[in-house]
Formats: sequence, C-alpha cells, structure tokens
Amino acid sequence: MPELPEVETIRRQLSPALKGAKIIGVQVRFAKRISPGKAKFIKDLTGNKILGVERRAKVLMFNLSGDLTMLVHLKMTGRLLLKNKGEKPTKHTHVVFSLSGGRELHFEDLRKFGFLKLMTNKEAKKWLEDHKFGPEPLKADFGWQHFAQCLRRKPSAKIKPWLMDPTCVVGIGNIYATEALWRAKIHPLTPVKKLSDAQIKKLYSAIITELKQALKDRGTSADDYLDAFGEPGAHDRKLKAYGRAGEKCSRCGTKMEKIKVAARGTTLCPKCQR
Ligand SMILES: [Zn+2]
Repeated sequence: MPELPEVETIRRQLSPALKGAKIIGVQVRFAKRISPGKAKFIKDLTGNKILGVERRAKVLMFNLSGDLTMLVHLKMTGRLLLKNKGEKPTKHTHVVFSLSGGRELHFEDLRKFGFLKLMTNKEAKKWLEDHKFGPEPLKADFGWQHFAQCLRRKPSAKIKPWLMDPTCVVGIGNIYATEALWRAKIHPLTPVKKLSDAQIKKLYSAIITELKQALKDRGTSADDYLDAFGEPGAHDRKLKAYGRAGEKCSRCGTKMEKIKVAARGTTLCPKCQR
C-alpha cells in the first residue's frame, strides 16, 4: 500500500506537472469507486483547471477551479499515471482525464479499494476534518513529546498497529512501521505502557529518518507501487526489516523472523527487538 513517501512522491511530481492544466474530458471506465455518480463527476470536472495538488495523510487533494476539490486515496494498489494523449489504458484503468497540452492522467487500481471523490472546497475541508488526522511526521509541528502523550492515551495498545493508526502520526503503514520499529529496536507487540520515554523518542526519530530517506528514494515498490511517471521507487533495497524474514539482521546477524500482528505479517529481529 502506498504510504506517506509514495503518496508524497506522486504529489511532488503531479503538482508542478498539472498546475494550470485544463480538464478537457473525463472517461470513466469503472464507476463504483468515484463519487458523485459517473455523469455528475464527468460534467462537474470537465472544463475546470487543476490549480495544484496537496496532500493530507495519504489523501491527495486536487485543487480545481470552480470551487472544487477532488480527493484521491490510492488505498492498496491505486496509481496515478501521467501519460501522453492516446496511450492505451490497461484493464485496471478506471478513469482517464484528458488534459490540455496533449496529456492524460490515468487512475488505475487492480484491487479497486482506491477512491476519487469530487466535492466543493468546503465539503472537502469538512471531510478531512471529520477524519481527525493526526500530525504530519515531516512537519515541524510533529514533536516527540506530543507524540508520546498521544500514544500513551492507549496504554494497552500494541505499538505496531497503534503506529499505523493515523491518530498520533499519519502516513505510516506496514512497511514504514516495520522499518521504524527495527531502527528503534522495539518489538512490534510491545504495549505502549511498557515503552520508556527514551524508547518513544527513539521511535519518533526513527520514523522521521526512515520517511525522509524513503521520500528521497521516491518510495518503496514492494507492493507494486509506481510513481506518477510509471517508475518504481528506489527504497526497496534499503529496507532492513520489511520483506527480509529468514535473512540475517544487518545490525546483529541474527536470523529475522516473521510474525503476525493485527493480521499483518511483520518482520523483526528477535535479538535487537525485544
Ligand atoms: Zn538484530
């Protein structure tokens, strides 16, 4: 699933590329995950301009003329791809936006969990507020004390699923939770109440370091993510824990183990992460 580094990579590519582009046509090939309905979606979008693309948590916000915002969530396998006019859609291409300047934006989604929601700016603002997203980990207002305080509101919560919940920090899914916990030497099943302030501070730093590196690498393609130009991310080979069960821990040489945490596979070093 695309996490913060992947979604932010796409945003950084799309925003300058699409700024000022006019939507001259919309082709909806699979309508179940778009709202409002197909006809209104097409009618309201056509003729409007893309003013820029922003992001909150894992949600992309296309700011449009006409007081409109299109929210896009890629969920498991969604992709937004910039293409030249006339490039063939795949069988997983659900929407094709034809843009001025001879370009197209394709939305593909193999697993069909992703969504596109067209709203007024006011509705979009409310939608985002209603989701009560926690702080953005790469912004200055993400401080470790506030993070620790937030985590401690659920003392019995196991750290890994709690980290993947967007309450205390947004944008972290299975890959970066696994990596950050390995970096901070914390076992994924540790209840929050057993973590010292020093451990939480370490975890906080691990999250920031890991996300920054992954963003620099344009993300991780382990789960078939591609950036907006159709290129895989380069962070896969730098992963220390995710997908490395059975390999030797790069820190201590112990064989990495795979366990299940909240129904998700998690790799850890049984020696470093206790
Ligand atoms: Zn180790």
